[in-house]
Parts: sequence; structure tokens; C-alpha cells
Amino acid sequence: MSRNIHDRPHTGEQALRWAVCFLEQKGFEIEQAKHEARLLLAKAWQKEIIQVLLDLKSELNRETWEKFAHFIKERGSFAPLHYLLEEKEFMSLPFKVSPSVLIPRWDTEILVEEAIKLMQERENPKILDLGTGSGVIALSIAYYLPQAEVVATDISAEALKVAQENAKNLGVSERVSFLQGSLYTPLAKAQVSKFDLIASNPPYLSPEEMAALPPDVKKEPAIALAGGKDGLQFYREIALQAKKYLAPDGHVLVEIGYQQAMAVIGILQKWGLIPLRILRDLEGRDRVVAY
Ligand code: GLN
Repeated sequence: MSRNIHDRPHTGEQALRWAVCFLEQKGFEIEQAKHEARLLLAKAWQKEIIQVLLDLKSELNRETWEKFAHFIKERGSFAPLHYLLEEKEFMSLPFKVSPSVLIPRWDTEILVEEAIKLMQERENPKILDLGTGSGVIALSIAYYLPQAEVVATDISAEALKVAQENAKNLGVSERVSFLQGSLYTPLAKAQVSKFDLIASNPPYLSPEEMAALPPDVKKEPAIALAGGKDGLQFYREIALQAKKYLAPDGHVLVEIGYQQAMAVIGILQKWGLIPLRILRDLEGRDRVVAY
């Protein structure tokens, strides 16, 4: 029988046992439930995971227990794990996340690694990140390329606040400017007008894909996921003005849905971006189109 959630006292171990049982009843796989319960206990207890495991026999105070029970109940109702943890690692760097931004995905590291490869020999590369969200693309490029100057745009003021905080935490604020507006729109206010690299992970889901999202992904901002009637709307807008903002030997990197490579290549070619390459993710699926 599962322990009544309001019973006290609880050791860390008892709390974890209750949590795993609760999450399993909500349909989580046991390994997933264990893993997430540990992370959430560490967050509630304000300890590193390793310390949680060493302290499992210690009692949780009321505040910690209530916080943990709240996290587990939220997770059981499919609040995204990383919104509860308020953090997601990307390119081995810690990024703050909130419900105003898309939670960064590992897939996007493919794009960032390629960006670093393409830009590392340039003296003072100017980089543009369209739809920066939490800032993962713009900021990890700025972090790993100390000579880079980055402009990041986003339509959401709330998202830009998160990105700005991430810039501060990573110590790259001085080399990254944030501008509010859709895609290229706010660039009239930027000091840079030609870029060595335009990067974007735009919203790219079709209405059918939006309707079929798992319940936790449905809690991420629709504005960061929905790519118009056919999922391709933002690639059209990005392609249309890419040449205007690109330095003569500049590059474009866009993340894509794994079935969109041919369609996106067609769109970029139409606006003079030729030749193009496709980069695959670790599972072998098309993930980035590169010019
Ligand atoms: N650029 C951010 C990321 O890659 C946000 C992307 C988005 O909101 N579509 O995570």
C-alpha cells in the first residue's frame, strides 16, 4: 500500500519509495520514475544527487518533504521535468529554463557543434540566432568561441529574460545582444548587419503533430513548437531574407524535423542558398540543413 502523502516523518528513502510508486501509478516506467524522483528529491533537498544517495536514511524536514511531494504530484500530472528542476544541461553547460521557453533538446547540439566547427578559424565571427528561446544556441556558441559576437532575437519578451539570465550566468553577456521581435524583424536596431552564420531552431511542427504531442510536451510553449499550416512557415521566412543578412562567405544552419530535409532544402535553394548539406543526429535521422 502506498504511504499517505501527508504522513510524516519521512526519510529520504521512504520519500523516494512513495514517489516511485506514485509515478508508476501515473504510467511512468520504473527506471524513469526512480531517476526523476532522485533528481526532484535533490532539488527539493538542495543537495547534489550523490549527497542525496549518501543521506537516504536521514529525515526530511517538513518544508523539504512538502516541496518534494509537490514536485512529484506535478510531475505525475505531466509537468515537464525540467520546468520543475528549473534547469537543463546543454553542451555541458547549465541553462535555466522556465515555462516561457522550449526545453533545449540534445538534437540541437548537432547544430551547435557544426557552428563551432565552421566558425572557429574566423577572427571575429558575427553570429545570428533566430528564435533564441532559452538562448542555448546563441550562448553555447558565444561560450565556446570567445572571439564570437552574437545577436539573438526572439518574439517573446519572457523568453529573452530567461536567455539574458543565462548569458549572465555563463559570463558572455558582453558579446551577446538580445533583440525582441520575430526572426529578422528587430535587426534594424542591431549594430551588425552582415553575419558569418545564421542559425535557427525554429518552430517546425505541423498542426497534426501539435495535436499528437505527449502531455508533457503540450505544456511547452506552442509558439516555440508550431510551424504554421505545414510546419515549414519559418523556413520560408528565414530563407527569404537570409542572403540580405549573410556575409559573402557566410553559412546558414537550421534544425529541422527528421522528415523535413527535402522540403527545407527546396525552400532554401529557391532563395539562392546552394549547395546544401544534411547533418544527422545520433539516431541517424536528418536533423540539420547546412549551407
Ligand atoms: N533556440 C532554442 C532551442 O533550440 C529555442 C527554439 C524554439 O523555441 N523553437 O532550444
